Amino acid sequence: MAGKIVNNYGSLPVVFVSGNGATLTDDKGKRYIDFVAGIGVNCLGHGHPALVRAVQTQAAKALHVSNYYNSDKGLAFADALLEASGMERVYFGNSGAEANEAAIKLARKYGWLATEAVKKARGAAGVPARNEVVTLENSFHGRTLAALAATGQDTFHPPCFAPYPAGFRAIPANDFAALEAAFDETTCALMLECVQGEGGVNLLDARWAQAAAAAARKAGALVIADEVQTGIGRTGYLFASEELGIEPDVITASKGIAGGIPMGACLFRGAARDAFAAGDHQSTFAGNPLAAAAGLAVFAELSKPGFLAHVKAAGERIRSEIAGWRLDMIRDIRGKGLMLGIDFSVDSGANKGVDAAAIQRKCLDAGLCISTAGTHTLRFLPPLVITDAEIDAGLKTLKTVLQSVQ
Ligand SMILES: *Cc1c(COP(=O)(O)O)cnc(C)c1O
Repeated sequence: MAGKIVNNYGSLPVVFVSGNGATLTDDKGKRYIDFVAGIGVNCLGHGHPALVRAVQTQAAKALHVSNYYNSDKGLAFADALLEASGMERVYFGNSGAEANEAAIKLARKYGWLATEAVKKARGAAGVPARNEVVTLENSFHGRTLAALAATGQDTFHPPCFAPYPAGFRAIPANDFAALEAAFDETTCALMLECVQGEGGVNLLDARWAQAAAAAARKAGALVIADEVQTGIGRTGYLFASEELGIEPDVITASKGIAGGIPMGACLFRGAARDAFAAGDHQSTFAGNPLAAAAGLAVFAELSKPGFLAHVKAAGERIRSEIAGWRLDMIRDIRGKGLMLGIDFSVDSGANKGVDAAAIQRKCLDAGLCISTAGTHTLRFLPPLVITDAEIDAGLKTLKTVLQSVQ
């Protein structure tokens, strides 16, 4: 059915043609409640008037001008993001993997500068290079080779793509003992995914994240928060790292940042601020005025009073409704804001390991788009503007499907 598009995604057999809010319509006119939002991308839902207007207006003015120059929208979006996040510089890219690639290069450059400074002070002999990036087991950082190397899941490292870039090591999350020997003078960064999305919607313990950030900093390393999925508003905070209290030196964002136009951002400050010099890292399309105009429109909506409170309340509505079903197959409901997972893991006694992908497929047939994270977790990433009525309609379908497989 996917025709000649590369068969990489295992796409489901549906062809969407339009959407409105948290509802999608396929080529046969069938309607679906959308709890996926393009993997957390369509944060304002489909057809949001302010976003549509911003994109249409900008398309008529200037789509792209190249980073040889500045654009008014690029400058304005940079200012808005930096002011809201307390960061000092931004590198725009086009995707999450590219935002992380920029963060990794920034950390390497920072480490290299630090190593050179030590060599100068002490003499070159015996000074180890500060170039290792410490990440977390079960993390996901993207599909370029460096982002895969950073990803702490062996399933993402098949031998067919070897060799992977060196200089990455994963430690277990929420394990205080693992911090004792985690960082030294060879560490250039600790890279944390604030809520592990692809890995199963796993939460970081804030006390552990703070201890990890402090230990990394003490060893002279940067702290990078990968907020490609949690970023802008998804968890009910502008950035999930705010709630964790880790004050990152570098934040990466992408998915929802421009509401559906490809855009990524690597934000940084402090010790990381001046590491990049002209020519160190570039991309042709990065931060073009169309993407920046879309980003500004998303940001304006997100900044309205009550927006983030709605995200939190909508997430609570989903959790409490599902908890009320008291289905044995559900072992856990976890997440933050509108980034939630239902866990059907094998060890829940009554349940012998319900396959999340099979449920996803049944939901689709019944008119609900929902995604998975790993084998046994169903993942919710609905539009941040989803209404109570849309939530209730989607959950009604989900409940029927779950009861049918129970
Ligand atoms: C999706 C995701 C990425 C990769 O983003 P792409 O836009 O697919 O390259 C990286 N990190 C996290 C946490 C993600 O969720």
